[in-house]
Amino acid sequence: MGSVQIVTTILAAAITAVAVGLAVRAVMKMVAVIRLGQPAPERFTDKGTRTRTMLVETAGHTRMLKWSVVGAAHWFVMVGFIVLSLLVLEAYFEVVTPAGGLPIIGHWTIFGLATELIGILGLAGILVLMAIRLRNRPARPGNRSRFTGSTMWQGYFVEWVVLLVLIFGFVIRGFKVATDHFEYPVWATPLSHAVGAALPAWTAGVSVAALIKIVISMTWLIVISLNVTMGVAWHRFLAFFNIFFKREPAKAAGSGLGPLRPMMSDGKPLDFEEADPEKDQFGVAQVEQFSWKGLLDFSTCTECGRCQSQCPAWNTGKPLSPKLLVLSLRDHAYAKAPYLLAGGGKDLTGEEKATAAQLAHMDVLALAEADRPLIGTAEEGGVIDPDVLWSCTTCGACVEQCPVDIEHVDHIVDMRRYQVLIESSFPSEAGVMLRNLENKGNPWGAPQNTREDWTKGLDFEVPRVGEVEDFEYLFWVGCAGAFEDRAKKTTRAVATLLNEAGVKFAILGEGETCSGDPARRIGNEFVFQMLAQQNVETLNEAFEGREKAKRKIVATCPHCFNTLGNEYGQLGGEFEVVHHTQLLAHLVSTGKLTPVQPVDGGVTYHDPCYLGRHNRVFAAPREVLGSAIGGGAGDGQGGAAAISGAGRDSGLIEMPRNSERSFCCGAGGARMWMEEKIGKRINVDRVEEAMATGAKTVAVGCPFCSTMLNDGVNGKGAGEQVEVIDVASVLLRSVKPDTAPGEKETAPVAG
Ligand code: SF4
Ligand code: SF4
Repeated sequence: MGSVQIVTTILAAAITAVAVGLAVRAVMKMVAVIRLGQPAPERFTDKGTRTRTMLVETAGHTRMLKWSVVGAAHWFVMVGFIVLSLLVLEAYFEVVTPAGGLPIIGHWTIFGLATELIGILGLAGILVLMAIRLRNRPARPGNRSRFTGSTMWQGYFVEWVVLLVLIFGFVIRGFKVATDHFEYPVWATPLSHAVGAALPAWTAGVSVAALIKIVISMTWLIVISLNVTMGVAWHRFLAFFNIFFKREPAKAAGSGLGPLRPMMSDGKPLDFEEADPEKDQFGVAQVEQFSWKGLLDFSTCTECGRCQSQCPAWNTGKPLSPKLLVLSLRDHAYAKAPYLLAGGGKDLTGEEKATAAQLAHMDVLALAEADRPLIGTAEEGGVIDPDVLWSCTTCGACVEQCPVDIEHVDHIVDMRRYQVLIESSFPSEAGVMLRNLENKGNPWGAPQNTREDWTKGLDFEVPRVGEVEDFEYLFWVGCAGAFEDRAKKTTRAVATLLNEAGVKFAILGEGETCSGDPARRIGNEFVFQMLAQQNVETLNEAFEGREKAKRKIVATCPHCFNTLGNEYGQLGGEFEVVHHTQLLAHLVSTGKLTPVQPVDGGVTYHDPCYLGRHNRVFAAPREVLGSAIGGGAGDGQGGAAAISGAGRDSGLIEMPRNSERSFCCGAGGARMWMEEKIGKRINVDRVEEAMATGAKTVAVGCPFCSTMLNDGVNGKGAGEQVEVIDVASVLLRSVKPDTAPGEKETAPVAG
């Protein structure tokens, strides 16, 4: 060992010892913070599926690749990071001797070839990511950036570290080539040989370059260890765990979509019959009341801003960004952690748990952080502003886009639950809806004995459950479908089509009450449980003696469809629920319904969030529309042609934001019953997009989307040019052109 190698070895050992020591301390701190969360035993079930999903999602980058260029570049950087970590390890041999290398595999040509290729692709990948970050930087004039609010220096720092480590990998190899210490052939390592041809034959160069590479890598480790909230770096380790522990590991996409997580206390679903707010946790009022998985979610956020770029609230100028919400919760949790770890915290009656002695030497900043209300205005020092909390439509676009499976909607609703159930604090205009649900069983407060009024004037009988025994489908009408004028036309259209196709169906009539979706999404779990239990009892009675496969329900409202199909199981109600567009698609493809009259003027389709993103029903409505537009029986391909763009040929014109990336109408999450006072109206934004397609018909599959888009169209004074209408009504016009003239859904808006 020469004098240069003695120095490089000592320096490499010293900086590594410091970095590893700090990293161990940082990991311990992070684990301690995450363990402050509430138990979540359900996250440890089905480890086989969890492992498989985690490996597929990480190795295959299945979620990142939705953003093709970024995803591909990130994949190369990730693989580069993992494989080239071996080359950082190799650098420790090279600081000792220029001929040093990894034992055994370091002599394999295949290893030299693989690392060369990954190094080159990693270089290309990181340059692409750097260019994308620079092009999208928030400071760029006129730029509406997904990185707004992200800690930009951290992103730049991480990218430069990756770039320099990759470059110095080739410099080391170059010096080895130049000094004849390199054993791989030119064909396997062309770039290394090219670099070597440009470098002098300086033997110490190998060890010096190796030291620089180690210093850069360890500086990175020191910096991230001193910044435990640096998600852009830590997600490289945490993402594996966050994906492994996701809510529904069997779901290929949208694990945090569909049903809401039940209200939990101490790791168990809350039983409202026995629940006591002084002993049981009602929602989330303090950051440590999130489950440990929630705290892991916050720690894992990469600050990539994909969620923010898709959020309807953020895109229409509201203060909610799912990314900034997650970052606020993360920063608060870590800043409050010293106080909590010292024994501090409030019990469920609001009393301080720590003794004065425990808090005597507490950092004042941690104490100040602990005093902040989780939900509060800037003047109150709140972590999350009420306007942020109540702007969410629970559309799920954030969950859909998040590459590390963060479950934003569950966290938002958990915070709403405490505000509604304990603080009675929510937008006052929604109070009428909640009172109507409690007293009348529907959000409009309509008399229960008018639930069947929509059947009046139909030229066939609509049977009630109990009147007929052999119905195949229970037609769940829903409150909108029973009481709201436009939605009633959809209900009539569906009933007419089912009757035409010879489907045996029956309704509950006055036995039906609201599914409870708006109560649950606003956070009033108590009212949801009350309505849901009543409905589950009624439905179980209606299907008595039938196995699950024969307990079939068809619903026109995606919110009911989601609640009945995905959430009633939490209360002992197991049913096979389909959306009417699915049943209609089946009836068309099996020849039970035959569209004869083509729909002209162009049709575009708006995916309802709770049908599409939350429940992955994208194809069926497109297939129905494709068949009606063409005036034929469809392609029988589940509308795949329409989705792929061939739909344009048959008249279905896709909006730029469609399917998984569809843009909310603004009504979900009980926003239907709240005023939209901040920013641009979400429905107007969506209507502008729909109108820009030039289509004369905007087809929908949800009564709330229908209301919102109709209001948007009428607000623009375009009610005469553009019609917003349910998929079922489009099909009815095509199947029975003579009997559907009165089904036009566009109605003038009062005032
Ligand atoms: S659910 Fe929709 S509205 Fe709510 S934060 Fe996510 S993207 Fe935004
Ligand atoms: S998409 Fe996920 S990782 Fe990216 S900023 Fe949003 S929450 Fe964080």
